[in-house]
Amino acid sequence: MNIEDKKVWYPYQQMKLDKRIYKVLEGKGPYLKIENLEKNEIKDLLDGVSSWWCAVHGYGNEELNNAIKEQVDKIAHVMLGGLSHSPVEKLAEKLVEITPDGLNHVFFSDSGSVGVEVAIKMAIQYFSNQNLKNKKKIIGLTNAYHGDTFKAMEIGDEPDFHGAFKHTFKDTFHIDPPKGGFNSSDEEINVALSILEDLLISEADNIAAFIVEPLIQASGGFIVYSPKYLEKARELCDRYNILFIFDEVATGFGRTGKFFATNYTNIIPDILILGKALTGGYLGHSATITTTKVFKGFWSDSYEHAFMHGPTFMGNPLACAVSLKSIEIFQRDNYLDKIEKINSILKNELLEFKHELVKETRVFGVTGVIEVKDSKILKEFQKYAYEHGAYIRPFGSYLYIMPSYILDEVEVKKLCTIMKNYILEYLNVK
Ligand code: PMP
Repeated sequence: MNIEDKKVWYPYQQMKLDKRIYKVLEGKGPYLKIENLEKNEIKDLLDGVSSWWCAVHGYGNEELNNAIKEQVDKIAHVMLGGLSHSPVEKLAEKLVEITPDGLNHVFFSDSGSVGVEVAIKMAIQYFSNQNLKNKKKIIGLTNAYHGDTFKAMEIGDEPDFHGAFKHTFKDTFHIDPPKGGFNSSDEEINVALSILEDLLISEADNIAAFIVEPLIQASGGFIVYSPKYLEKARELCDRYNILFIFDEVATGFGRTGKFFATNYTNIIPDILILGKALTGGYLGHSATITTTKVFKGFWSDSYEHAFMHGPTFMGNPLACAVSLKSIEIFQRDNYLDKIEKINSILKNELLEFKHELVKETRVFGVTGVIEVKDSKILKEFQKYAYEHGAYIRPFGSYLYIMPSYILDEVEVKKLCTIMKNYILEYLNVK
């Protein structure tokens, strides 16, 4: 193929090496119907990654389809400039109802990354509106991922993704989360907190916010850490007058086992960001939700203090209608029970799995990971998964699944078996 013929520029891909052979024809439930261009065959594959973790109901859910069809006959899109509409008002109300008490005001955007940008802009302007213009730096965690737009890259810590831009980054500090996983010891938590406090002692006058992916750093390697750290960090953020931001783009809507990762703690962040599963994985959309304290920071008789941001597609009626239906299904069909069941199967299947090629296995909510010692081991995995009827896409040294919540026991076990058998058969397959 000539370089000119490569019309689609695919994500995270060295296009020169791209040999894309899977073409999705349709999706039904947890299955993707895939045409394999190399083998000239069509196959239904059980999807283990739910389209970067957003398709929590699987594909082609009839109720979600109908929510969009009904809305499209009314209006597909209209700007929120000077106008409002029912789906956006209802969704804002619903999000305020289901997120922890105190988060009251919702700003919509069209992707997780932009939702993060919005949160950072809000934090910086919150202080500049008080004439605290030095408070503009941000603290992030090492190994964090918050998206691919500029400030989101900068507050993240992903050399593999964003190394090409590192020389443009400034105004950000990175600190380690506590070691020890979900149940860190007090000592491990104190070590991490003292790093945070030392930074705040010297720099708080220049810092606007501390942003975290609460409890699990997903793209950074599925690193789980303690809710107690977040509770104590909340106290430090208050003491040193900086805002605390939770990026729940990946963790929101059940992925960690509770509705939101925030629900594992007794605190609320000043700003919470939701995306991905917000629309049930149907359309790009995100919600940046703030406390009234933050909202009040913009409340004035002057436009100078207003939040001057407005993505064209914010509050898109189709996205809002499908989000409302997705949340309705989530609550009505007791998704948290489904999630708990999947979690216990994942634990049984993966946590005891030991092998000389495996560094560690981790399970948190509906996320199961086999971390291997050398990423090269996973090179042939995708083909192997295809042959065994699944679509699973590892990255780095992480062989992971983050499937939809509609899988039955057999399907969850099938995904785990494929992962484990690949490792067990590795020396033969190679
Ligand atoms: N924050 C987190 C924690 C994420 O995992 C992601 C996406 N993987 C984003 C932000 C960015 O979301 P989007 O891809 O919708 O821009």
